[in-house]
Amino acid sequence: MKLKTFRILAVVFLLIIASGFSVVNAQIFAPQTGFTHQDSLRGSITKEREWWDLTYYHLTVEVNIQDSSISGWNVVQYKVLKPYQIIQIDLQPPMDITKVTQNGEALDYRRDGNAFFITLTKKQKTGDVNELVVQFSGKPKVAVRPPWDGGFTWTQDSNGRPFVATSNQGIGASIWWPNKDHPYDEVDSLLISVNAPDSLMDVSNGRLRGVDEHQNGTKTWHWFVSNPINSYGVNINIGDYVHFGEEYEGEKGTLDLDYYVLRENLEKAKEQFRQVKPMMDAFEYWFGPYPFYEDGFKLVEVPYLGMEHQSSVTYGNKYQNGYLGRDLSGSGWGLKFDFIIIHETGHEWFANNITYADVADMWIHEGFTNYSESLYLDYHYGERAANEYVQGLRLGIQNSSPLIGVYGVHHEGSSDMYNKGGNLLHTLRQVADNDSLWRETLRGLNREFYHQTVTTAQIENYISDKFGMNLDPVFDQYLRDIRIPTLEYAFRNNTLLYRWGNAVDGFNLPVDVTLNGENLRLQPGTGWKTVALESNESYTLSVDPNYYVGSFNLLGN
Ligand SMILES: [Zn+2]
Repeated sequence: MKLKTFRILAVVFLLIIASGFSVVNAQIFAPQTGFTHQDSLRGSITKEREWWDLTYYHLTVEVNIQDSSISGWNVVQYKVLKPYQIIQIDLQPPMDITKVTQNGEALDYRRDGNAFFITLTKKQKTGDVNELVVQFSGKPKVAVRPPWDGGFTWTQDSNGRPFVATSNQGIGASIWWPNKDHPYDEVDSLLISVNAPDSLMDVSNGRLRGVDEHQNGTKTWHWFVSNPINSYGVNINIGDYVHFGEEYEGEKGTLDLDYYVLRENLEKAKEQFRQVKPMMDAFEYWFGPYPFYEDGFKLVEVPYLGMEHQSSVTYGNKYQNGYLGRDLSGSGWGLKFDFIIIHETGHEWFANNITYADVADMWIHEGFTNYSESLYLDYHYGERAANEYVQGLRLGIQNSSPLIGVYGVHHEGSSDMYNKGGNLLHTLRQVADNDSLWRETLRGLNREFYHQTVTTAQIENYISDKFGMNLDPVFDQYLRDIRIPTLEYAFRNNTLLYRWGNAVDGFNLPVDVTLNGENLRLQPGTGWKTVALESNESYTLSVDPNYYVGSFNLLGN
């Protein structure tokens, strides 16, 4: 469903053109151009998409490990929002749609690259709920560098048993199954039925509803997701899995925690996954209840690093702390936790609960989830640990292009959306200077936008409202510009002069400084302001290092 924001998208886009591009003009980068017709088909709400609202999928997939092929059908149920007769369904080559039917009648369709335009038997009536059955088959793209360059991974475990997994963020779910491959409209619920050899097991999203045994040496596993889910979160994982589980007593009652790992890794997993309950403590404290109690929480071992697949978070961090054993922050704190468990689960709140309506706003997923790592540290190791971690991540920021991408063409912003996004949020926490307000803002976001798709404007406005101040210039600076704002200051005639340089028009970030040993908050703008000082032999000023800003004494005195 998650259609709530759709109507205002166009307005938001115009506003961004109106306000954002005046900012952009002042910059040294040009907005990326050269997008193709296929980019528009993928990234925009075409007229063949906008007239219908997804309500339910039943996706059935037969996985043939011998020849790395799949086949199946997807029952696409939708509600008609306005009369129309052509529907867009996406599926990328070399996968192909072999037949489409409605009420048993075969339908005509036309392929345009990654999109299929299917002509329905009659014009659809507003309010009706209808179904299509889309049959498909082929050898799906093999993932080159999963999860980033996704597709299917066909491999084996150390015992020589098949180990198969899908990953498709970015490239899209339509790399292997036919669906409405645009994030603005999430399906309300989903049944995924996966057929594979009966000596293995499939683990997908949500809860296992049943298993069918067949005469031909295969089984079909039926997994049901009762909550809205983004298409990139849907996944198949087939292996020689063993299961263990536990229960978590959380804010919304008892949450089932289920773990599926390769037989050879059971003991390592039992040790490493002890991090899950303390993680839930930290995340529920900061973000509110886990958003999918009905569907449970799972960690599923996969042959790649990991991904935030909703209610079946996939794990491939080799049962060690850090990011494949490394501390991305260089502060030492990154080795206190398993990066993939913490980061990918953080996405259950920011990516799966609150989902971008356009991938250009992907910072909502990665910025907040990057920050969830430091909030985990904050909860268990204190504020100093969190501060050092966030500051350490700054070394990875490029500042070469903005965090927000180009709308309507399936374009992600800069990979700075992780570390710089986290530093923006850490800076806002300093501005709040009130952790109960900060916590209430994070929990409030998860309440206000519960199970919805959103634009960055909605997130920005919500935070401004909570803070009771206009943070538009602050968001413009960190999301739409590449410059690090710099507190320019000077001491002259027993006066401190200060202003923001390297900043967008109207930049108004309050900032905490230590001036001659005393802490105070300045309210700089882009014009000079002054503070009268007592006569002194020398003056010192330093900016609180938790702000992601620069500072520069223009006179060097
Ligand atoms: Zn992430």
